[in-house]
Amino acid sequence: MAEVLVLVDHVDGEVKKVTTELLTAARRIGEPAAVWVGDATEQGKAKLAEFGAEKVYVAPAELNDYVVAPKAELLAHLAGEKSAAAVLVSATTEGKEVAGRTAVKLGSGVLTDVVDVSADLVAEHSVFGGATLTHAKVRTGTPVIAVRPNAVAAEAAQGAAAEEQVSVEVSDAAKTAKVVERVKQEQGDRPELTEAGIVVSGGRGVGSDDFSTVEALADSLGAAVGASRAAVDSGWYPNQFQVGQTGKTVSPNLYVALGISGAIQHRAGMQTAKTIVAVNKDPEAPILEISDFAVIGDLHKVAPQLTEEINKR
Ligand code: FAD
Repeated sequence: MAEVLVLVDHVDGEVKKVTTELLTAARRIGEPAAVWVGDATEQGKAKLAEFGAEKVYVAPAELNDYVVAPKAELLAHLAGEKSAAAVLVSATTEGKEVAGRTAVKLGSGVLTDVVDVSADLVAEHSVFGGATLTHAKVRTGTPVIAVRPNAVAAEAAQGAAAEEQVSVEVSDAAKTAKVVERVKQEQGDRPELTEAGIVVSGGRGVGSDDFSTVEALADSLGAAVGASRAAVDSGWYPNQFQVGQTGKTVSPNLYVALGISGAIQHRAGMQTAKTIVAVNKDPEAPILEISDFAVIGDLHKVAPQLTEEINKR
């Protein structure tokens, strides 16, 4: 069975949930082979084995000294050497860039914002800012597929996770952008936005930089907090929490939009959420067109009541 390369997303030696989802998708296509750039931890490798990785290719940490490009060179090199059936990466900001660069190097095609992929490599993906789902298949070369976090349900299946050291000669071109510092973004105890199963976002309707109403509801649900660009541009919430076309893409099980109108650029980042709940005082707000449930009212009255009810349970 041909190998399917899965680029591992890891932080502080821990494998992120999205990688377990990619391994699950990879098992439908062929034999999952995880690609870990950096020092692979025992705990991380055990997680990869738990979700079916038959191999773990470990590449030197120095590849992380440069921005994105060496990862693409590594994946392209491995895809050729191993005659991989496909390359799967997470559809995060970095993952999408790696995907594009890898496909260029392979002379193949790339599919991004994929929400499902079948055994015969037909990918369902979100296009036109999330307005449409299409089915597409790469016809030339090794397909490179960027899958959205939370889109595929991770299922455990034991794999051998046989470790093999790999490397690639990093080109001069890939060395042009060097990482000088990595700054860890503060997110407190809340889950990471793109990985969270539940996201509660606030928009201009919040009315000020006091996001405590949004945060309290998020905390009652164990959710991540997001924000619309209007809220971010107003300086009410930090930029790294922006959801949308120019922010993060999320695909949680539940997305709660508090005081967000539902502009196309916001939808682009959240429309594939499985259930969408809106709280908006305008019954004509466009967000209602894509909401499964809506409460028409003032979020400062509705959200605290919701929080109180949830906290009672
Ligand atoms: P508004 O559109 O002003 O909506 C506020 C909503 O709150 C209204 O529906 C109102 O009825 C409701 N409301 C007001 N008060 C209350 C209350 N007390 N209780 C309940 N409801 C209330 N936007 C993004 O979000 N993410 C992006 O990544 C993004 N990228 C963009 C990229 C480009 C190139 C461009 C041009 C725009 C982008 N935008 C993005 C901006 C986008 O077009 C909208 O301007 C923005 O999403 C609006 O944010 P909002 O819904 O919070 O504000």
